[in-house]
Amino acid sequence: MPPHLVNYTDTHAHFGGDDATKIVARAVAAGVTRILAVGGNPDLNAGAEAAFRAEPNPVRLALGLDRSQSNVSADGVNAFESSLAAVTLCAIGEAGLDYHHDAATRSAQLVLFARMLDLAARRALPIIIHTREADEDTLAVIDEAGSDALAAAGRLGVVHCYTGGKAFARQLLDRGLYISFSGIVTFRNAEDLREVSAYVPADRLLIETDSPYLTPVPLRGQPNEPAFVPHVAACVARQRKIEPAALADLTTRNAEALFGAWLDFSATQP
Ligand SMILES: [Zn+2]
Repeated sequence: MPPHLVNYTDTHAHFGGDDATKIVARAVAAGVTRILAVGGNPDLNAGAEAAFRAEPNPVRLALGLDRSQSNVSADGVNAFESSLAAVTLCAIGEAGLDYHHDAATRSAQLVLFARMLDLAARRALPIIIHTREADEDTLAVIDEAGSDALAAAGRLGVVHCYTGGKAFARQLLDRGLYISFSGIVTFRNAEDLREVSAYVPADRLLIETDSPYLTPVPLRGQPNEPAFVPHVAACVARQRKIEPAALADLTTRNAEALFGAWLDFSATQP
């Protein structure tokens, strides 16, 4: 296989079963040489960690407790934090608020999200933020609990799988956050979101699959995987009127600025 001149980075993928090695091999063959495996609940955390242990070269690791874990006790959160002591992480996540699916647990979600920001501060790591139908509260928690994380890590993190509007994007950018677009940006009815993907400054833009969910057009109907992130890149590149290779380049640079360098693949290139 010839070496790829274009290196894509999938900044957000979930792993479940024992097929991580095959999934990662297909990604690398498609030019996706950097993958961030992301947790959020016990199953996702275990899957991400297993993928990282199986393929520590292209895969890096983020672990966290998301809105589904807002019933976990303070002791449980402490135990989770202790379990991270020996793990090589490049981010905390995912974490955040979802009032679409989990509206009943709003106040507990707020507490857990703040706690994850606190954890990011203590580990000096960026955070991967999920937010749905919770714009104002997301900003409020960041304003209250985010400054220590920003100070400790030198960068705050990313709002992943972005689906919000331009005004919310502006507020997130003003707080130093990166914004990541998933396959949703390729959907037929996502014209507004495509406009936002052209609005985000070049040095704050990231792409992801959020696999195994949200398969991009034109691959709808099959499970998503990191190998498909070039379809997200092509869509955002078209919108920004740049070449897909340039989009791959700048989002890879941004991913390394936010999460730290992956292995140097340049040695394999001509
Ligand atoms: Zn996710």
